[in-house]
Amino acid sequence: MLGTMLYGPRDVRCEEVPEPRILQPTDAIIRLSATCICGSDLWPYRGLNDVKSPMAMGHEYCGIVEEVGSAVTTVRPGRFVVGSFCISDNTCPHCRFGFQSSCEQREFMTGAQAPLARVPLADGTLVATGELPPDDLIPSLLAASDVLGTGWYAADAARVQPGSTVVVVGDGAVGLMGVLAAKQMGAGRIIAMSRHKTRQDLALEFGATDIISERGDAGVARIKALTNGIGADAVLECVGTPESMTQAIQCTRPGAMIGYVGVPHGVELNGQSLFFSQVGMLGGPAPVRRFLPHLMDLVLQRKINPGKVFDLTLPLADVGEGYRAMDERRAIKTLLRV
Ligand SMILES: [Zn+2]
Repeated sequence: MLGTMLYGPRDVRCEEVPEPRILQPTDAIIRLSATCICGSDLWPYRGLNDVKSPMAMGHEYCGIVEEVGSAVTTVRPGRFVVGSFCISDNTCPHCRFGFQSSCEQREFMTGAQAPLARVPLADGTLVATGELPPDDLIPSLLAASDVLGTGWYAADAARVQPGSTVVVVGDGAVGLMGVLAAKQMGAGRIIAMSRHKTRQDLALEFGATDIISERGDAGVARIKALTNGIGADAVLECVGTPESMTQAIQCTRPGAMIGYVGVPHGVELNGQSLFFSQVGMLGGPAPVRRFLPHLMDLVLQRKINPGKVFDLTLPLADVGEGYRAMDERRAIKTLLRV
């Protein structure tokens, strides 16, 4: 079959790879209905993470179970499933505490930018739908696998409440999903920080009430001006750079929480300024598995349409163009047909 391999900076190839097979009795093999490229795939693509040997790319997935190992009991061949990008057993103490992304048996999904993928710990990782979903919901169900679940976690970790004033730092796909999540959680005001017209428009469609195009000190000043000098009740940090993290801390009101889901690159915090800012921080890889049943339900009932975040659809063979388009910010997120 064809699969996506990253060989080094800006060298991603769609090439013949071996079909996955059951390696452990807890594995499942799924036939993907669609797959996509994640913003975090751009870190190794841009050479910011080392690629020592060719990497099988892709960790967002949904599809139909093709085969299961002998120990798998909750999903059967023929069922439509969505799974998290974090593989988890869903039974260990961290999983039961709702932090499946720190599962004692955690693995990170790989190899999903392909027609078939192996999912370890299938019972703990996969959530099945009752029936096969209609085709038009596939992009939104795929989004639940990572980008939506991550934006949702940012809002959950930031403790968005009904009526909250929320700031979303970052207008990438995760930030936009953070806007959608804050809206679903009943935020009263959602301030999206974005300087790109297409992303601003999508943020407004997902529920943003205000757009701020300034960054850094000017951006913080605008937020202070919009909140009577107080700062936001909840801040979602969806980038992971020193600038975005500083911006997030400075626009959070004392006593409030920052949900940070952008993988930090080069972020170093000053202990004293953090101490006196009196803000709380909770972040890390999103425990998407905790939210999956609810998010899939919202999609299946057509209450949310996160699939709109995909603004480019390509066949798997053109995966290289999908990465380029996202790298050059011509596309927010690329869906790959398999
Ligand atoms: Zn676990």
